[in-house]
Amino acid sequence: MEDCLFCKIHKGEIPSTRVYEDENVIAFRDLYPQAKEHILFIHKRHTKNVNELVATDPSELSDVFLAIKKYTEDSKLTETGFRVVTNFGPDGGQTVFHTHFHLLGGQKLKGFGA
Ligand code: AMP
Ligand code: ZN
Repeated sequence: MEDCLFCKIHKGEIPSTRVYEDENVIAFRDLYPQAKEHILFIHKRHTKNVNELVATDPSELSDVFLAIKKYTEDSKLTETGFRVVTNFGPDGGQTVFHTHFHLLGGQKLKGFGA
């Protein structure tokens, strides 16, 4: 999608610190990290949010979570733990409308009963 920040990052038109890539998915460091490790995982195909992604091609969820599995194993985040979050709409705090999954870790995270 032409005016999408994360499509531009995917195409290399905007710089990012890429930490993972496979056929379907890329992951790069969040520019404003909210934890010691804060990585964004996106599918290469543009959808605006997780509900659109699931409605149009639910197999992309597996693509993303398999990428998260590989990355967290390779980076050893599986040894200490991590959290995956996707924001939807204004109350969810979504600011970029290309479906993305925040991977947070590298420290003890607060909230959600922690
Ligand atoms: P959300 O608020 O869930 O839509 O998440 C969007 C995320 O993108 C935020 O955590 C931002 O810090 C992050 N972000 C915005 N611009 C960039 C960029 N150019 N490179 C990497 N991350 C970005
Ligand atoms: Zn996009």
